[in-house]
Amino acid sequence: MFVLAKGGEPLMPCHPARARELLDSGRAVVVRRAPFTIRLKHRGRADSVVTGVQLRLDPGSRATGIAITDEQPRLGPLGQTALERRGLIGIELRHRGRQIHSAMVRRAGHRRRRRSANLRYRAPRRDNRARPEGWLPPSLRHLIDSTMSLVSRLCRYAPVREIHVEQVAFDTAAIAASLPADTRDFREPTRAGSEIREFLLAKWKRSCAYCGAAGVPLNIEHVHPRSRGGSDRVTNLVLACIPCNQAKGTASADEFLADRPARLENVIAQLRKPLHDVAAVNTTRLLLVKALATRGVPVHPWSGGRTAWNRGAMGLPKSHTLDALATGLLERERGDRVVRVPARILVVTSTGRGSYARTTPDRYGFPRLQRPRRKIHRGYSTGDLVAAALPRGKWAGRWVGRVSVRASGQHRITTPTSRFDVSHRNLRLLQRADGHAYGFAEEIRLSEERGPA
Ligand SMILES: [Zn+2]
Repeated sequence: MFVLAKGGEPLMPCHPARARELLDSGRAVVVRRAPFTIRLKHRGRADSVVTGVQLRLDPGSRATGIAITDEQPRLGPLGQTALERRGLIGIELRHRGRQIHSAMVRRAGHRRRRRSANLRYRAPRRDNRARPEGWLPPSLRHLIDSTMSLVSRLCRYAPVREIHVEQVAFDTAAIAASLPADTRDFREPTRAGSEIREFLLAKWKRSCAYCGAAGVPLNIEHVHPRSRGGSDRVTNLVLACIPCNQAKGTASADEFLADRPARLENVIAQLRKPLHDVAAVNTTRLLLVKALATRGVPVHPWSGGRTAWNRGAMGLPKSHTLDALATGLLERERGDRVVRVPARILVVTSTGRGSYARTTPDRYGFPRLQRPRRKIHRGYSTGDLVAAALPRGKWAGRWVGRVSVRASGQHRITTPTSRFDVSHRNLRLLQRADGHAYGFAEEIRLSEERGPA
């Protein structure tokens, strides 16, 4: 739970039980319902100890994991300083890039139909439409904008001192450093091994190098077998599905693919591709890191290989929020630990703020109905968080949910369990619509993931 001082400055987040205690005793007031934020009535910023928190981000195309953590030094097993990381708040931000993309495709379809409806010949239009510097498709622009908007908000509610973000899938420098075939077995879990695995997944597009199978378990495979003197260098490694891996056995790639020369040629060409060629930089993530840097808080970019390694070393299963929690420097050898994982995470879904369209089209693009000019009806707009108190009837009782408005004032409320119509007279506004829907989810439990590695 986020806590603000008397003057509105952010203090260290607190446990929900503590927040309830403060509210019940009248020492705090609710500022926001989602994310839940309270303000202390008597205590100022100067009366509180604020050590600061870290904001950790795992940007994804469908959802971005966000974790707010604090770190405390303690004495490690070998007498050196180790860090204890506590996950204070976990947030999963669900993007709507796909909806935006499909809306753009639909619009393009309607425009194409209108152009070809008049079948006389038209000369092609001169291509004078320049895209401004830094232009991104709207679906990708949304990823950055929605993440930045939430990050700015979190920086107002929590004393963020550092931002850690996963910027690239794998760390080319770490792979290059481990390139000379050393005696270490790469299958032994090491951080370099974790980077190599992420690198191979990108290089071979998460599919088997010999048969192209995707979505199956993949093993790291030596093209020139180790038993015949093959090295552990990445230039000798591919990913293979289990059947191919077993069928190949100790044969060399030339022998195994003797009857598939085209495939063999492919494998050899891909093997020789230099590192920087495979490291296709994800422009969206780069732009996000650039945008984060403008916030005036130090930004530390990390690689996905390191996150995967950290998560494994800490025994955490895979989820967006746990990836975010594991982002950054965590040295197991030094004794660093993750000592707290939030049990419940806030799920923030981007819903948009409605549309500019004045009409709703049917599936052929013809206007079906006209929308009312106003967005606010009887004091409410679609997306507002409201409390409903119904004195009688089927839905008698108190409800909290998202409202969707009608001009008649007979609005519709959606709660986590139900949806029904309610008059505006029985509603009370809790929070204005801000383009997001809020809900809660349980974090993935550790026990579910424990299986053969
Ligand atoms: Zn295969």
